Amino acid sequence: MNYFSTGKMPISHSTKCKFCGSSDQNFFKAKERMLGLGGEFTYSECLSCGSLQLVTVPDDLSSYYPAGYYSFLELNKSNFLTRALKGLRIRAYLKLGLTFQAPMYGYWLRKLQPGFSARIADVGCGNGQLLYELYASGYSDLQGFDPFIEKDIQIAPGVKLWKGRIEDSADTFDIIMMHHAFEHMDDPHAVLKVCFEKLNPGGKLLIRCPVADAEVWKESRELWVQLDAPRHLIIPTVKGLKMKAEQVGFLLDEIEFDSSDFQFWATELYRRGKILDEEKGSAFLTIKERQSLKEKALQYNQEGKGDQACFYFRKPVKS
Ligand SMILES: [Zn+2]
Repeated sequence: MNYFSTGKMPISHSTKCKFCGSSDQNFFKAKERMLGLGGEFTYSECLSCGSLQLVTVPDDLSSYYPAGYYSFLELNKSNFLTRALKGLRIRAYLKLGLTFQAPMYGYWLRKLQPGFSARIADVGCGNGQLLYELYASGYSDLQGFDPFIEKDIQIAPGVKLWKGRIEDSADTFDIIMMHHAFEHMDDPHAVLKVCFEKLNPGGKLLIRCPVADAEVWKESRELWVQLDAPRHLIIPTVKGLKMKAEQVGFLLDEIEFDSSDFQFWATELYRRGKILDEEKGSAFLTIKERQSLKEKALQYNQEGKGDQACFYFRKPVKS
């Protein structure tokens, strides 16, 4: 069915929400705005759970990912001394709770509390920078999976990146994490099921992704920067993702909103018809305005209205 040529939706469409299964859907159109490619992409909004999904996924999405896409940048490695300092820093943070020592990824690592020998997988790992940082902090059994990297590569002792998917791995893991990768996959049921199978009993799944609970989505609709058509194929609500993950067998331990001021100023750029230029992006704001947006983001996170969240799931010891 071609949703793009007619200009209006066929009456007999049968899109079902990929999270809650409801056929009760509202349709809307969105443009590619990050690069300014335009086009017209039809999304559905579930009237039952509020989750969003791209109705027809283009056959070839690669043209919407520029060559310099952030996750394919060159790996930034650190020397022995820096690694030793990072190791001390992560211990000070995780074991002693010294928050001024928090690394940029600390807040979710502190909830996961992996042992340094835990086997950790990063699904959608890009160039592996995050796994490298974990290695530099003392973690020793790390694997990344990403079908879009050039080839399999070992980036440090105990850190292997696979050009492929986690379902093809022979291993099982103590922790599987997805940092803004989940929304780029079109079948949340299949993704969650694979994660469940690939986790050891008691293992943890961290999903960080945009959420349609966002106030900025409700206010700005298709101008919302993290709608990110057509790269974001699914954007759940807390309700939708919780429902789907529990159906697969997961327990939800905690939800933590972690959105930033980016949601406000980048959405404002789109409102002004500008593309996303991360370097100059917020330059139209004064320091004071920027500060107040940062505070607003913290406020939204506390109220569950931020535009992204961390979901901490757990596989029961006995399932
Ligand atoms: Zn739904």
